[in-house]
Amino acid sequence: MENNVIKMIVEIPKGSSNKYEYDINTNEISLDRVLYGANFYPGEYGFVPETLDWDGDPLDVISLVTYPTLPGVGVNVRILGSIKMIDAGEIDTKLFGVFADDRRFDSYKNLEDVPQHLKDEIENFFLQYKALQKKEVKINGWGSAQEAMHELKECKERFIEYKDRYSKPGGKDEIMAEWKEKGLGQG
Ligand SMILES: [Mg+2]
Repeated sequence: MENNVIKMIVEIPKGSSNKYEYDINTNEISLDRVLYGANFYPGEYGFVPETLDWDGDPLDVISLVTYPTLPGVGVNVRILGSIKMIDAGEIDTKLFGVFADDRRFDSYKNLEDVPQHLKDEIENFFLQYKALQKKEVKINGWGSAQEAMHELKECKERFIEYKDRYSKPGGKDEIMAEWKEKGLGQG
């Protein structure tokens, strides 16, 4: 992929407290829940199509943005790194990047180019956003762009391996139970 640019489908625009989620089986974006607390997505949040992460969902992406878009919009994101998140014991990595088609981010080529406070804000958001749900989120630091792209490759391969089973009724639950039993993807 040229300059680590990937296609993200936006689920949640920056500033929203509505947790919209895409459902691969119904092909719809639905409101999963309103965040329990006064927490707001600090970037554009979505996923990479045709990927499967260890939490049973497509690989997540959070991107810096100047002007929020809309749920369902496809955006080219230049990946700068990843946030190694563990959500309720499951590996739930977030790719991190910037809009590739916003000239304001042209000088952002890797994690070191991003102001520290913006990274701190995003990290803090993920550590806090489930606090009132009494769910534990851990972050094992940030990964480089290279690590992020490797993660993406693995999630694409996993999608190909499981897509037939995944699309059957109850398929996702079955796969998740299998992974748990084998200790796969646990943080
Ligand atoms: Mg996820």
